[in-house]
Amino acid sequence: VINLFLVPTPIGNLKDITLRALEVLKTVDVILAEDTRTTGMLLKHLEISNNLQSYHIFNEHKAVEKLVERMKKGEVFALVSDAGTPGISDPGFLLVREVLAAGLDVQCLPGPTAFVPALVNSGLPNDRFVFEGFLPHKKGRKTRIDALIEESRTMIFYESPHRLIKTLEQLSEAFGPDRQACVSRELTKLHEENVRGSLEELIEYYETNLLKGEIVLTVEGVSVKKETREEKQARYLKSGKSGK
Ligand code: SAM
Repeated sequence: VINLFLVPTPIGNLKDITLRALEVLKTVDVILAEDTRTTGMLLKHLEISNNLQSYHIFNEHKAVEKLVERMKKGEVFALVSDAGTPGISDPGFLLVREVLAAGLDVQCLPGPTAFVPALVNSGLPNDRFVFEGFLPHKKGRKTRIDALIEESRTMIFYESPHRLIKTLEQLSEAFGPDRQACVSRELTKLHEENVRGSLEELIEYYETNLLKGEIVLTVEGVSVKKETREEKQARYLKSGKSGK
């Protein structure tokens, strides 16, 4: 049996809810919500009435213990966040960890999450990528960026509109202004926009275009250029070895 379901909810377009999500939200004993008002409105729209209980980062540690006890007694829960997949830059990880540690079982349903469409829309390589979530606002921010200077995989960041330019500037300083990137804004919503270009071009664009809404920033990794035969030979010759 599953004791805890993690149920992704729309990141904008309310049609992005799966049939299975509806079924789980209807049948669990309790829906744990990051914000009961936001989730209450969604449930109303979906015509689902079920027990709602608040679950957010401010009470996470305390709440987890009690919830695990209730699961042991047989109650089945669904966790939802305000938007997207719970646990992805949202509360959930701690609960999953403790539920598993108690020998109970969890299941995350597949569904909306902002970083997947952003990555695919970007047109940047997506065979390998790293999800960086939100950069720290102050302390540790530069260290985190500097640690990515040699990252060759495509990088994904969550960002707020008022910090975007600063982030683009800091990344441009660390990675160089020519690095390709994409700003995905308001995904799945009426005014969805994916702006692709170099970091420098994106800075220019957003300095003159009013910026609001939700944002995912995708940045190309450093290119690990493959050596040509000639370059390889030259390198061997220089080092005094034979060039084969
Ligand atoms: N759990 C969510 C998920 O699975 O993507 C992420 C929650 S996090 C608190 C909110 C951030 O996700 C926003 O600041 C933005 O970076 C990103 N995001 C959420 N919805 C988005 C959308 N419709 N378009 C672009 N970015 C979005």
